[in-house]
Amino acid sequence: MSHLTQQDRAAIRAALELQRSKLIKAMQAALEQSGQTQFAEVLGRASGDSADEALAVTLGDLSAARLEHEVRTLQALENARLRLDDKDFGLCEDCGAKIPAARLVVNPVATRCVVCQGHFEHTHAGQSHGSI
Ligand SMILES: [Zn+2]
Repeated sequence: MSHLTQQDRAAIRAALELQRSKLIKAMQAALEQSGQTQFAEVLGRASGDSADEALAVTLGDLSAARLEHEVRTLQALENARLRLDDKDFGLCEDCGAKIPAARLVVNPVATRCVVCQGHFEHTHAGQSHGSI
């Protein structure tokens, strides 16, 4: 049985949707600025199976278009959205601890508890931030 109530999940889902739409808008703006309107258009389409497929292809192309960070974040959001109803959603992937609902609302893509995230960032310090 999950530690998250229906209400918790609803709040996390709302936070996810909000972050997702903000991110897509930011990506669209960046693409339109750089003249890559064909990608911006796909991103703006309503979801659905075929749209998701087009999105997956587009995201592959976008990775090459210097939006790697945004693409990764969007994929993490999509991932969290798919896992939201799983019974183990909200459990730390490293130690299995219950991640508090409040943390998941602030950061719906969190997959670790605060302690493990701290270890992870310490261990991987510098790798995600480049050296330039
Ligand atoms: Zn943990």
